[in-house]
Formats: sequence, structure tokens, C-alpha cells
Amino acid sequence: MSEPIRITRAATKKRKPKDSELTFGTVFTDHMFVMDFQEAKGWYDPRIEPYGPLSLDPAAAVLHYAQAVFDGLKAFRGRDGRVRLFRPQKHVERLNHSARRMCIPPLDPEQALKALVELVGLEKDWVPSTVGTSLYIRPTIIANEPFLGVRPAKSYMYYVILSPVGAYYPEGMNPVKILVVDKYVRAVEGGVGGAKTGVNYAASLYAAEDAKHAGFTQVLWLDGRERKYIDEVGTMNIMLKIGDEVITPPLSQGTILPGVTRDSALTLMREWGLRVSERQVAIDEVARAARDGSLREVWGTGTAAVISPVGELAYKGERIVIGGGKIGELTKKLYDAIVGIQYATAPDTHGWTVPVEGRAT
Ligand SMILES: *Cc1c(COP(=O)(O)O)cnc(C)c1O
Repeated sequence: MSEPIRITRAATKKRKPKDSELTFGTVFTDHMFVMDFQEAKGWYDPRIEPYGPLSLDPAAAVLHYAQAVFDGLKAFRGRDGRVRLFRPQKHVERLNHSARRMCIPPLDPEQALKALVELVGLEKDWVPSTVGTSLYIRPTIIANEPFLGVRPAKSYMYYVILSPVGAYYPEGMNPVKILVVDKYVRAVEGGVGGAKTGVNYAASLYAAEDAKHAGFTQVLWLDGRERKYIDEVGTMNIMLKIGDEVITPPLSQGTILPGVTRDSALTLMREWGLRVSERQVAIDEVARAARDGSLREVWGTGTAAVISPVGELAYKGERIVIGGGKIGELTKKLYDAIVGIQYATAPDTHGWTVPVEGRAT
């Protein structure tokens, strides 16, 4: 199925913020992509329309039982002035992975990619150009059937909104302090930790607020069963370098989000010939490595920050300081390599970027 995308242009255009005024997720562009699903029709009526409030029945399933998924990716304006999406196919694939777990009908990947390219093309002028800035893309699927029973909904809405965002590190990269929580958990085996769904975020707020009040930037989540193995850091995947081994928790438990940045970092490090293990790592192993001096680097990976260095972990009253609180060599190398591909200052040898041609407005 490849119904053409209908376009209704916005009557008025918003003022675009200057690059220096950009923050995260507060300003949205003039248009959004929308498509509907009904059991009998499948996904239908793909369209681009003026950005604006949705009309939802108060009984809509998403508002009661949280049947919804989302994703987050970015478009960058390269040094050459051209706009590129970073690994959009991988993000669409993950949106569908999340959707299946939440009993939401998946999208046709090709059509979904086309819609992203078309929408960003129409809003091309909204893509900022200063290094570090980008256009954040938020695809979302919600169950909009007005029905209070508990079962998968029969109707859905897919929409994509765009937000120009500022540099994650306006004052340069700084290692963050993280609180290891053992009182709350984010996910359990068999749960929905591997799906990008709002409930995981709602469930994480309490612990994150606790950590913030105690002076930490984020929390490090341990596994839900034994509260022993490392899962994720805040809303990022986590990686550690102990001795000459780079370690990241495996996807096989289904408790961590299969991050696209995680995948990019793993691919690059394997190409660089590093010893990379996807295995469980106990927080006690990390504390021991810190004590014997073999804990070299810890960082988080995610679309928003790309790479976020961790300078300190607090666990059961113990302070685990990493690399003297400074940014590690590999942390920096990974950041530079990924950002280089995103802004086309380095060759894209993996075919990770998809150029956007843009149409006349
Ligand atoms: C989105 C997300 C990530 C990072 O995924 P990327 O594809 O790298 O942006 C990691 N953990 C959680 C919980 C997330 O929601």
C-alpha cells in the first residue's frame, strides 16, 4: 500500500527561533504528519497538515490504559548545508518493535520512511545549522478508540511532530553524577522495558525526582529481579570500559531499550578492533573495578545527547569516581565519530544517513 501523502499547508508560518534560543522540545514546526488506522482498512489517509491540537474522545483508550508508543530521531544540517536523517530505517524498525509489544498494528516501514523524508523536506527551513543543534523528530502512535474495556484498541492514530532543538552541551561536555537506585526498578524480565512506550517514563519519574533532590543528574537502573545487574542510565543505554573490555548490558533480557545510538557505538567500536562484550555486569563488579583501578570509563548513549560521560556513581553510600571525573578517551572518540557522520564532516561509510531533498515552500 502506498497511498500518496495529502498535503494541507499552514495558512500562517510561525517565527523560527534563532539557533541560540533553542532548547529541547518546546517549539514545534508548522506541519505534522498524520495517518489513521481502522481494523477494516489498515493504515490509511496519510497526510501532512498544519500543526495543532488533536481531537480525542475522552474515552480514548490511550488516555486510560496507556496503549501508545513513540520514537525519537533527528535530522541534521550538515556542513554542506544539506539536511540528513540519522538512521531513520532503524528508528522505524524500533517503532514497530515497540508497537508489536503493545498490541499496536505496525506501520509499513517504507511508507513510514517516505513520510519522514517528506515531512522533514517540507519543514527543511526549520533545521538549524549550528553544530550541536538539530531537528528532533517524534513519531507517536496512540490508541484512539473510544472504549473503556481492557483489550487492544481497534483504531489508532500515527503522527509525527518536529521540534528544532539546541545543543545538548552548550557549555561543552561535562561528566554527570548518577545515583544507583536499588529501591525502585524500571523494568522486569517479561515486562515492557524493551519498548519505547510512555508507561516506562511515567514509572521512572519518582526515582528520578528522588535522585535530583539528592543532587544527582540521573539514576542508574538495576535489574528488576535481583537489583544486582546494570540495566540503563536514566533514559540512555549504558556502556563501561573495564580494563580493555567494553561492556554493555545485553538486549536478550528484554529489559533495556534497543538503542540506535547503542548500536552505532557498538558497530564503530567493533570496527576499531576493541574488545566489546554484550553481557550482564553486576554493580559490585563495577565497584570492585573502581577500587582496583581498572574502571576506565562509563558513558550513556542516546539520540538526545549522543554520548554522555558519567563521572561518578553513588551506590549504597559509596562514591565510585570514574576516570578522575574527567571525560574518557573512548567516550570522546565515539562522540566525535558519530557527530562527524551526523553533520557530514566525516564520510558515512555505513549508509546511516538519508538525505532530504526538500520541496519548495
Ligand atoms: C530512547 C531510549 C534510549 C536510547 O535510544 P536511542 O535510539 O539511542 O535514542 C535508551 N533507553 C531508553 C529507556 C530510551 O527510551
